[in-house]
This record gives sequence, C-alpha cells and structure tokens, in this order.
Amino acid sequence: MSTIRLVDLAAQHAAVADEVAEGWRQVLDRTAFIGGAQVRAFEQEYAAFVGTRHCVGMANGTDAIEIALRALGVGAGDECIVPANSFIATAEAVCRTGAVPILVDCADDGTYLLDPDAVAAAMGPRTRAIIPVHLYGQAAPVERLMPIAQRSGAWVVEDAAQAHGARRHGIGAGSLGHAAATSFYPGKNLGAYGDAGAALTGSDDAAGQMRLIANHGSPRKYEHTVLGFNSRMDTLQAVVLLAKLGRLPAWNAARKAAAKRYDALLSGLEGVILPRVLDGNEHVWHLYVIRVPHRDRVLGRLHAAGIEAGIHYPFPIHRVPAFAELARYGEGSFPVAERNAGELLSLPLFPEITPGQQERVAAVLAGALR
Ligand SMILES: *Cc1c(COP(=O)(O)O)cnc(C)c1O
Repeated sequence: MSTIRLVDLAAQHAAVADEVAEGWRQVLDRTAFIGGAQVRAFEQEYAAFVGTRHCVGMANGTDAIEIALRALGVGAGDECIVPANSFIATAEAVCRTGAVPILVDCADDGTYLLDPDAVAAAMGPRTRAIIPVHLYGQAAPVERLMPIAQRSGAWVVEDAAQAHGARRHGIGAGSLGHAAATSFYPGKNLGAYGDAGAALTGSDDAAGQMRLIANHGSPRKYEHTVLGFNSRMDTLQAVVLLAKLGRLPAWNAARKAAAKRYDALLSGLEGVILPRVLDGNEHVWHLYVIRVPHRDRVLGRLHAAGIEAGIHYPFPIHRVPAFAELARYGEGSFPVAERNAGELLSLPLFPEITPGQQERVAAVLAGALR
C-alpha cells in the first residue's frame, strides 16, 4: 500500500506550478534576485491578510523571532518567557539575542498552549518579552498576556509560524501582540520553496528597526547605523508565496474539514485524547495532534503500515541538550509538558488528504491501540 505522508506538498505545487514558473521566469529575465517588487508586494499582501500594518520579509522564521526581539531592544541581561513545549527555534532565538529564556508550562486543557497563569507567576524585574507560540495552528490567549506584559513594561512577541490565517475572536494571529514572527518553511500552512520568514508589527518604529537589522543595519547603501544581519527574503520565494497566499483560505478550510473527519473517526477510540480548540479560536490545523498511551509502540505500528505520523515535540525545551543553561530546570519542573512529550502523536494532515487515507490512518491506529 502506498505511503501516507505526514505532509504531502505535491498537490499544492501542482495548483501553483504554472504561476510560479511564469513568475520565476520574470525574475530570471530581470536578474533581480534580492528584494524587488515581488517581495514588497508579498509583504503588503501578507500584512493585509493578517490585519496589521507592517510585514518585513526575512530569510527564515528563526531570524524573524530574533530580529523582532532585537528591534524591540531585547538583549543581554533580559529575560523572555517562552513555552516549555515548542519547536526549538523559539528559545533558540531568545538565546541568540543574549537574553535568557524563562520557560513556562502549557495548560492541561488539551490545547497545548502556554498557560497565562504560569506566565504571570514567571514575570520578574528582568522580563522584557513574553513569546506565546500559536502551537499546531491555533492562537494562544494573547488577550490574557497583554495586561500581564503591560504591568511590567514588557513586550508580547507572537511566534505565529504555525498559524497562517488563524484568528482569535476574529483578530488575525500575528496582530494580537506588539510584534510577531512567522516562518514560511515549506511544510508550514503557507510554505515557500526553501527558507523564508517574516516579522510583523503594527508599530512604524518597530518595523523600521526590523528592516534595518535584517539588512546589515543599512538605511541606505553603504550606510550602516547598527550591527545587523543578512536576513532578507529571496525574490524567488516571494513569487511562490504570492501565488499561494490567495489559495491559503481554501487550503485552511480543507485542513479544518480533515480535522473534523479525524475527530469523528477517532472519538470512540479508547485511550485517545483528541485536540481541543480554545473558545474564540479559528484554528488552521497546521498539525492534528492527539495523545495516546504507549506512544512509541503506536508510532512504530503506524510507520510499519506506511503511515508517516510524527511527534511535535519529543522533548520539552529544558531536556534539549543544546540548552545547557536550561539544565537548571530539573525533571518535574514542567509536569504537563513533560508528560505530554511522551504521549503526543501527529497524524498525517494536509489540505488534499482524502477521507480514504484518513480511514486507513484511523484503522491502523485502532489496531495498534488494541
Ligand atoms: C517552523 C517554526 C519556527 C522557525 O522557522 P524557520 O523558518 O524554520 O526558522 C519557529 N517557531 C515555530 C513554532 C515553528 O514551527
């Protein structure tokens, strides 16, 4: 039987192939590979799509987090609050600014989003930013974090890499805090054909700083006012993102329909904990994540049956060897994130997944749990 991929990008490419080929031909003809009209056009369209003033294209999402933090003045001597359960990039970007990540546990409510009460308890005199991650495709409750941040003069910088098109109480993920960062890594809901990312903000000042830092600290050619990065979005990637952005709402709707089908197929399965949507959220289902007992055995059975399930993420951040300084958090520091890491299981999900493929996933899963 054929493999069911975790994320199958082939159908998505087929939908935009002609448009991308034509756009790339124009870029090649003009040999304008950095910046240019397509990057500006994408930045404007994406800012409007999210519902914020500024989008600054960058080379990848990890740089975008770091540059958004630096643009707001975060650096050595500061602390940033990040969830213990996320992709490594969130805490990695904090460390690269010179600031210290302060981890918080996630809520034990099936959403896997960071717990605002834990954030309030973790605030200290050095806290400069709170970084909620809109994990798996739904927005964290940023409206609860903003008053906590404001009381301490801290910023809320959203990690919106998994939430293209997500909304909270009708407001776009990426426009809920003071600034945001996102990734257009190929497997995201809106994916480039290589690395790309962006920072978002409603503030003219912050956007100016972001643009400066991402381009060698250079407001004009040969003028460099701060030490920056080389982290610009390629023109070829902007062409892909422009072609895909118009189709994103339909793709997200297809993901939502597929998530509903999984809910129906799996709701009777003993031991399976289904994902929960936080009230007020429009979830865009970047990942469909369940929890199961004996996860590694179940995952092995799925792989043996040609089903590419995954784990997001197998280790909480304080158990990742690269973060030697986070070893100060001992076993048991974040009980919910630590327990979940051994139980989480991501099932194949992409807009074009068929009901037949989902039924096969559910059948193999049921067999593995028996
Ligand atoms: C993908 C991702 C990133 C980083 O994006 P890159 O473009 O790969 O650097 C950051 N945070 C989260 C939550 C992500 O899923």
